[in-house]
Amino acid sequence: MEYIHAKRARGVGKQYGYNNNGRPAAGGNSRQRAERGEFDFDVINGFKLKEVEFKTPGKKTRVARREEFKTQVRPAFLKYVAAHYEKELRAMGISDKGLESMRGGRSVNGYNVHHKLPIHGGGTNDFKNLIIMPIPPHDELHHDVIDPQLKGKDLAAGIKIKLPWSDDMVWKRPAQSRQKLNTVAAAAALKRRER
Ligand SMILES: [Zn+2]
Repeated sequence: MEYIHAKRARGVGKQYGYNNNGRPAAGGNSRQRAERGEFDFDVINGFKLKEVEFKTPGKKTRVARREEFKTQVRPAFLKYVAAHYEKELRAMGISDKGLESMRGGRSVNGYNVHHKLPIHGGGTNDFKNLIIMPIPPHDELHHDVIDPQLKGKDLAAGIKIKLPWSDDMVWKRPAQSRQKLNTVAAAAALKRRER
């Protein structure tokens, strides 16, 4: 499910430390706000922020899933997308040589197979949970959105976080790196769908 917040007075408040509702924000910089799951964007690098439970499974499960990913799932996923998404992979910048590696189940330099819900958050190796993407926008998802929300939390107990989510298996470069969706138009569209 996506969130539509109340309309935000654009530009107003942000520089004065006010939050979306016009109340003074509880704390300062964007890092601290990210730790509380507060972001100035709803979409980052083409991924929509979606609230999910992040719960670290037991060590045995984590180790087994990582091993399964490395030895079986990543090679199979690379072969699968090379066979079905060649056009999209080329659009993302993957060369003939890169495609050749992928057909052999091997990784391509500069690209990462990302777990949308990380294994340490309870994510599985299902293809629907995987996406191939360039490393810089990949690392931003972790550093700017996921990691801050995990800081100091009891992850074994499970917490709610805003997770960057995409339904795609091959990344598409978006027109804008960060985007705000909670406009009046988006809220109205959601209302129409609910009717
Ligand atoms: Zn990742």
